[in-house]
Order: sequence, then structure tokens, then C-alpha cells
Amino acid sequence: MSNIDPALRKLDQALGSGRVLTDPDVLASYAVDESEVPPHLPDAVVRVREAREVADVMRICAEHSVPVTPRAGGTGRTGGAVPLAHGVVIAFEQMNRIKGIEEDDLIAVVEPGVITGAFHSAVEAVGLFYPPDPNSLASCALGGNVAENAGGPRALRYGSTRDYVLGLRVVTADGTELSVGKRTVKGVTGYDLTSLLVGSEGTLAITTEITFKLLPKPQAVVTMLVLLPDLASAGRSVTQVLRAGLLPRCMELLDEATLALVRPLSAVPIPQSAQALLLIELDGDEIALDAQLERAGAAVVAAGASEVLVARHAGERDKLWAARRELSRALRKSARFKLAEDVVVPRSRIPQLIDACRRISEQHKVQMPSYGHAGDGNIHVNFLWSDPSEEAAVHAAIEATFKAVIALGGTLSGEHGIGVLKAPYLPIEQAPELIALQERIKDLFDPKHILNPGKIFPAHVQRFHGAC
Ligand SMILES: Cc1cc2nc3c(=O)[nH]c(=O)nc-3n(C[C@H](O)[C@H](O)[C@H](O)COP(=O)(O)OP(=O)(O)OC[C@H]3O[C@@H](n4cnc5c(N)ncnc54)[C@H](O)[C@@H]3O)c2cc1C
Repeated sequence: MSNIDPALRKLDQALGSGRVLTDPDVLASYAVDESEVPPHLPDAVVRVREAREVADVMRICAEHSVPVTPRAGGTGRTGGAVPLAHGVVIAFEQMNRIKGIEEDDLIAVVEPGVITGAFHSAVEAVGLFYPPDPNSLASCALGGNVAENAGGPRALRYGSTRDYVLGLRVVTADGTELSVGKRTVKGVTGYDLTSLLVGSEGTLAITTEITFKLLPKPQAVVTMLVLLPDLASAGRSVTQVLRAGLLPRCMELLDEATLALVRPLSAVPIPQSAQALLLIELDGDEIALDAQLERAGAAVVAAGASEVLVARHAGERDKLWAARRELSRALRKSARFKLAEDVVVPRSRIPQLIDACRRISEQHKVQMPSYGHAGDGNIHVNFLWSDPSEEAAVHAAIEATFKAVIALGGTLSGEHGIGVLKAPYLPIEQAPELIALQERIKDLFDPKHILNPGKIFPAHVQRFHGAC
């Protein structure tokens, strides 16, 4: 890239010496995320410490048409933080201050590099609650969560990241600093650009500060681990619990194949007769919770549950969750290659989706274990293979799965975003006119296409396809 050297010289001058990193080892650690997108080395990495530095980087990179990829925790599943077009990675790990937790207004103001789990601990220490809980919470950061509109098990009752973002401070592609949104719960002034920016995968603007809405921390939580003889009874359990007038904070499902992987990792014994597992979690007022627990127990037993374990204390609840939290990594270890698709269908159609996956798995001879957030219909369908020659069959199976999801009234991604990996499949869900409209929005925010190029839109990804 011919523009890169003068740009790096100006960045050095603007930020001070030693701030623009070009050491090959550093570059290598910013070339990948937690997806199967092949490594792409950036030309330089800048670990920013404040918004002004982000503005300097964008202004200089815009002047020299150098691509910029923002990166938070690097745990993305679709290649969002992989610098496909090389250029500069803006890394947020040092911009990680919780600027304030305002208990009376139930809001928090944070920088984008705050680790999500650390934020949970900080707000819970003052009796408040930030519900979005991606399973990667020990290593992902809030800026990445906002860019992906991250969800997690608790989305069933509490929604995803977007539901908690009141306002953002951002830097646009030409280096302009802007505030969007509000710090009040209500507010309808102008277009809702905050909602547009949340989930825009770092392609429209760079977040430098987030104002979150918080909730009071629920008084008590109870976790139920439900063992079931088959998937049909798991599907019935989900429906029966909701029909009983309950809204658990999560209902997580493991199918037969994922259960087989989890058995050796589980802190509680899972008999071979169990072919499906549900983790159901209820929260709220201590006394009301007892009655809810009773109704939920009756609902799952009526639906065919063979065993129900209940945990109320944090340590015991962690034991029930331990295997579920490790599942993604256990699956990754079980084969050389893994792709995880986080499709969503209306929750009543989960059994149909799992049946469709079983058929597709047999037809294409690809292993496809599934698990996920059954309560909100967001199922992680995994594609496992070990021999590169199987890749064509895997892609055919993924395409067939996406078509089945759309036929069931669903959507391609519940929380991981489109990034690089899902971009080729976007036209299965969205009309060409809708894709073109979104591309025009991208043009408006980023006319030179320097902000996280090669993401979301099929034509944008194809531009870098040769490099993939
Ligand atoms: C084991 C495991 C479990 C997971 N479980 C879940 C889950 O339950 N729910 C879920 O939703 N996801 C899950 N994920 C996916 C991933 O953790 C989320 O997508 C998370 O939100 C990414 O955050 P990050 O900080 O790692 O972002 P990164 O991977 O660094 O970046 C993600 C995207 O955000 C953009 N970005 C980063 N910082 C900024 C910024 N300041 N401004 C603008 N754009 C920015 C990047 O360019 C990129 O497009 C899981 C991943 C793993 C590895």
C-alpha cells in the first residue's frame, strides 16, 4: 500500500513515538479473531488511550485513504475485527475506564475497551444489573458488544446490547467527533442513529464512549438443569414454561450430539438416557421465585423431563453452567475446523429446525451438533470437519441450513453479525434493493470506504476475496 508510509509517519508525529506499533509479533496477534477467517496482517496497530487519538488516527488515515479496522476483545465469530484490507488496527484494550456509574439515574458511562465481565462485577457491586451476557464475557469488550449487538443467554427476558445503549460518542470516518442518542430513558429527537450504529460492525463509525441503561439487580436467581429423553420433549418444555405465564431469564438447549461432548466435562452426572438438556434460569423477588420455580418444574415434568436439578447459590449454579460455558471451546477441540452459525427461528419452530439440520447433516455428511438460546429461538448450529477436502460439502450444508432457516421464518444471525463469513449468504435473507439501500448508508458515513472495509455486504467482501 503506497499511502501507508506517509500516513504512519504522520501518526507517529501526532501520537508520539512508540505509539504506532509495527513489530511483526504485534501485527500477527491482531491478524485474526475467533472466527475461521484466515489471518490478514495489518500494516500497523495503534493502542489508543483517548477519543482525541481515535480522531487523529481517522483524520490522518482518511487523508491518505488508509483502511482502519477497530478491534475490542478480538472474540468475534465472523471476522469483523480481521483487517481484511490491511492498513491500521485501532485497538481499544487500553481505553478501558468505567467513567461513572450513576446509581440514581441507573446509567453507566464507559469506554469501549472495558471487559464485559468486569463491567458486570462493577455494576453488581453497587446493586445494579447490566443484563447482556455473551458467553465470551471474560474476554470480549463493550465496544465489540455494541458493534455486534451482542446477546447471550439472558436475552430471552432482558433483550440484547441495543436495548441498553442510550447514547454513544463516536468518531466518524473523516475524524469528526459526535455524540448521538441521550442519557435519559425517553427521547425521540431526530433519527435514531444510536440504534443504527449498534450492530453496524465497525463499518459506519468508531465508538469512543457508551452510555448504558442499567436495571436494579434481581434479588435472587435460581437455575434448573432439566434432563430430557428427546428433543421433542425439550421443545414442549420451552413452550409449556412460557404458556405457564413465566418469562425465565434464559432457557438454553443442548442437543444429543453436544450432550455427548459435555458429559465428561459436566460437574453433575448426565445419564446416557438423557438425549437433550435444558438450562432454565428464573430471577426476581425471593418469595415470588419459589412459586415460579414450582410452576416451571411442573411444566417441564408434564412435557416429559426425566430429571430436574435445582441450584440457588452462586457456586452451585456455576456448576450447572460450567459445561455449557465450555461447550464452544470443547466443540472447537473436537474437530480440526469449526464454523458456528447463530441462526434464529421463531421459538416454536426449533424442533423443525433441528430436524432440518439432521437431514442436511446426513445429506452432506457433515457433523452438525446444535445448542443455544432455545427461549429466544437463537440456535448455534456448528459445522465440524477435519479434512480440507470436506470444505465444499460444509459450505453446501451451511447454505442449505440458511435456506431452511429463512423458510421457517427466521434470520441468519441472532448475535454474531455478518462480518466476512456470512456475507456471501446475505442475499438469501435480504432483497437486492435492501442491500443496496444499506450500501448507500455506508457510502454516506464512509465515502472513501476506509472504515473496516470488506465486511457485511457480498460485493465488499468479494473485493478482498483474492486475499482470503
Ligand atoms: C467462546 C465464545 C462465546 C461467545 N458467545 C457469545 C454469546 O453468547 N453471545 C454473543 O453475542 N456473542 C458471543 N460470542 C461472539 C463475540 O464474543 C461477540 O461478538 C462480542 O460482542 C465481540 O466482542 P469483542 O470485544 O471481542 O469484539 P471484536 O471481536 O474485537 O470486534 C467485533 C466487531 O466490533 C468492531 N469494533 C470493535 N471495537 C469497536 C469500536 N470501538 N467501535 C466500532 N466498532 C468496533 C470490530 O471492528 C468488529 O467488527 C462468543 C465468542 C466466543 C469466542
